[in-house]
Amino acid sequence: MMVFQYLNQTGSMMNYRLLDKLVAEKFMELCIHENTEYINNESMVLQCLNCHEQASQTAVIMAGWGNALSYSTDMNYAWEVFEELRNSGKYCCLTIKSDYNYVYDVDLILSELLGNILHKRTIHITNENLPFAICLAALDTVGINQEEVYKLLEEKD
Ligand SMILES: [Zn+2]
Repeated sequence: MMVFQYLNQTGSMMNYRLLDKLVAEKFMELCIHENTEYINNESMVLQCLNCHEQASQTAVIMAGWGNALSYSTDMNYAWEVFEELRNSGKYCCLTIKSDYNYVYDVDLILSELLGNILHKRTIHITNENLPFAICLAALDTVGINQEEVYKLLEEKD
């Protein structure tokens, strides 16, 4: 597995692949089929121990089992995350903005009725890396805020 590591603002090494895995599992609710076993040695069929999906060894390699998509480093995949947020219908406003410093702001305004009261919550992420900022915003919507993400990413494996 390829490991992308970058320095964050405090100079610590961060494992972006771990962030991709968090986004896949916690936000996109996908199984990345990390733990597998052979159920059939003759035809080399593998089964995911988590979701029990089965596939031939060739199909497993083709589909990249065990790896999350590069959501936090590749805008094509980050856009899938943003579309998922948009299609959820939970946000009255989703904004991506860039200022003169080339820092991106990702703002999600969540609007929900609690009793008779319209409750608004804004998730605000600022980062110079847009795919990374989108991932942080998405994880915040499932209860993992950016401080927690930074802590997780800085932990040694
Ligand atoms: Zn699985």
